[in-house]
Amino acid sequence: MTETLGFIGLGAMGAPMVRRLLAAGHRVLAHDVDAVALAAAVSRGAVARDSPAAVAGEAAIVLVSLPTPEVVRQVALGAAGLVEGDALRIYVDLSTTGAQAAQAVAAGLAPRGVVALDAPVSGGVAGAEAGTLAVMAAGDRAAFERVRPVLEVIGANTVLVGDKPGQGQTLKLVNNLLAATTWAAACEALAMGARAGIDPELMIDVINKSSGRSFPTERFTGPALSRRFDFGFRMELMAKDMRLALQEAEALGLVMPTSRAAQMLYGLAMAGGGAKGDVTELVRITEGWAGTEVAAARRNES
Ligand code: NAD
Repeated sequence: MTETLGFIGLGAMGAPMVRRLLAAGHRVLAHDVDAVALAAAVSRGAVARDSPAAVAGEAAIVLVSLPTPEVVRQVALGAAGLVEGDALRIYVDLSTTGAQAAQAVAAGLAPRGVVALDAPVSGGVAGAEAGTLAVMAAGDRAAFERVRPVLEVIGANTVLVGDKPGQGQTLKLVNNLLAATTWAAACEALAMGARAGIDPELMIDVINKSSGRSFPTERFTGPALSRRFDFGFRMELMAKDMRLALQEAEALGLVMPTSRAAQMLYGLAMAGGGAKGDVTELVRITEGWAGTEVAAARRNES
């Protein structure tokens, strides 16, 4: 069944998601504060609307893919926000914004008869383009079943984590905390190997066939080896995910010493001006300490 969907936030993840929804035959009412991002979506067939309220005035299902919990609260509950639209029935947050924001937005929309699902995703820009994202949804089961066909256009692995708002967000934060910590450890280990004189390409090849392999060693190292640093996930977004995850851990009374040590590496990268850079640039910090580069020998020939 094709239908009219709203979509707010047309960035690195949102743009390819909208592309897939349009290709699946849906009509997409789109909004973004960035006029260039909005124009790009319109050029692919989306219809522009000038506020979240305008989108929610026409679409019963609205999806958002936004950078931070603050922006999500503003778009959902702020002035000219989704809460002001009369057509909206199911709100789906695909962003990584933490359980607290998910619960606050669900509580703010409920009096308007709107059901909120948190449905953060994992798999990066490549996963969004291919429609292979993992989608970790939480909230009312009937609402989830209603939007499941839409979510499956963007996520081949769509699951309902639980029926309480925020449970999808918590699982996503657990996942990203693990990925972020693993990448920090990989940056240290790779710089050590390079410092010892091992060819970085060969080293990563062997690790990815050995017990040290992980999503970061498989997917973050290519952009580092080529020095393009173009995985597509900003350092500040990964640092935001760690912050939200460790806030939740603290609320649960957990210390998380390994994750906190890794968080310091991201803090150093951010303090050094790397917030807007790609997460793969984290390796520059450990390269600096080791006085070497984890770079492909013939990277400039391609
Ligand atoms: P992005 O910064 O590229 O995109 C965010 C978009 O939201 C931008 O186009 C921006 O203009 C728009 N925006 C900001 N404020 C707005 C507002 N008030 N109203 C309307 N639009 C607004 O970020 P992204 O990489 O696409 O990530 C989006 C979310 O998905 C984040 O929460 C991120 O943590 C999560 N995520 C990202 C990845 C990834 O690999 N990039 C993977 C999984 C999850």
